[in-house]
Amino acid sequence: MLKRLLFVALVLRLAAPAHLEGQARSGQPPGAAPLAFDSGRAWEHLRQLVGIGPRPSGSPAIEQTRKYIKDQLAAVGLTATEQTWEDQTPIDKVRFVNLVATIPGARKERIVFAGHYDTKLYREFRFVGASDGGSSAAFLIELARVLKARKNPFTVELLFLDGEEARLPEWSGTDNTYGSRHYVEAGKRDSSLATLKALILVDMIGDRDLRIRRETNSTPWLTNLIWDAAKRLRLDNAFIAESTRVDDDHMPFLAAGVPSVDIIDLDYDAWHTPKDTLDAVSARSLQTVGDVVLAALPGIEAQLAKAR
Ligand SMILES: [Zn+2]
Repeated sequence: MLKRLLFVALVLRLAAPAHLEGQARSGQPPGAAPLAFDSGRAWEHLRQLVGIGPRPSGSPAIEQTRKYIKDQLAAVGLTATEQTWEDQTPIDKVRFVNLVATIPGARKERIVFAGHYDTKLYREFRFVGASDGGSSAAFLIELARVLKARKNPFTVELLFLDGEEARLPEWSGTDNTYGSRHYVEAGKRDSSLATLKALILVDMIGDRDLRIRRETNSTPWLTNLIWDAAKRLRLDNAFIAESTRVDDDHMPFLAAGVPSVDIIDLDYDAWHTPKDTLDAVSARSLQTVGDVVLAALPGIEAQLAKAR
């Protein structure tokens, strides 16, 4: 039976019209991998990151995490630069580092894809943050590979944020979102924020039972384009028609007037528990978010080009 199937497949392949094959590859350098998010690759990144163990800000493990991210970006031809600073937290002084990789596009205006790569500090149990801190970082590494191979009308930036998590057990005041607040302040000071046209933030997108609600702090047109794309792909079982409100790394960008959307599944039983491990997450969930974000991107670009 296997032989017969192979024979049929061969015939079908030979019969495929040449112009269709050409179309499927258009806009890409010859021999390039298909322009699709590969959750197999993303999963491997996630496995490696979780394997490092707990990765709180300022730790040797987060330094190791940065090395992993930089090495993976370098493997697809991208150089990550470090934005480093020190901040006083309620419990200690921490050296934070954001990682930034830029893919120049036809325009210098930027679309930024961001997520945090730190994991929350716990002393009472081992917290490896498979979804919370792991999924966003793994996702961005794979997205970088895909977008590097794409012809981008806007410059694309991959932004790996440090210090999203509160240092104290409870989220309060300015003891959180250290990386995004620093990035926005620095961008205001050197005026680079003026070229930032949209922020797409991902956080906790690994949940096996993926149910992402519209986040109501987020910019409505950006949210609509993403949820519309999910509907087109029949992935509205994961991007659901309910709303929630979450404080996250997009807030400093919104306050600075940057259209921003937070793609987050906070409805996660393992959230901030020892159970946020590989068992609680799935490659399929990363694939879903990758497919939806890539399907929404042309519409986001068209909207930004129109608004100019
Ligand atoms: Zn968290």
